[in-house]
Amino acid sequence: MPPIRVFVTELTGYRCRHCVGKVGTGVKEEPGSWKVYSVCLSENNGCGTEKIGTISRSSVSHTDEMNERAEELVKAAAIEK
Ligand SMILES: [Zn+2]
Repeated sequence: MPPIRVFVTELTGYRCRHCVGKVGTGVKEEPGSWKVYSVCLSENNGCGTEKIGTISRSSVSHTDEMNERAEELVKAAAIEK
């Protein structure tokens, strides 16, 4: 099994709902869709990576739109600072 490649970008202005540490948007490319993860970015990564949604490839026209929707999903699961 190859390692899971999840591309993570920090979500500024939001905090992990579990530990109130930094949180990031994680996106993993899969055939036909992207899986979206809320990724705890606190120093010890105590809360790990939580899958919060899937975006089908046919529902977005380009990558920017996918990234925006992924961020919205993570924002909904995070705490606004
Ligand atoms: Zn956390």
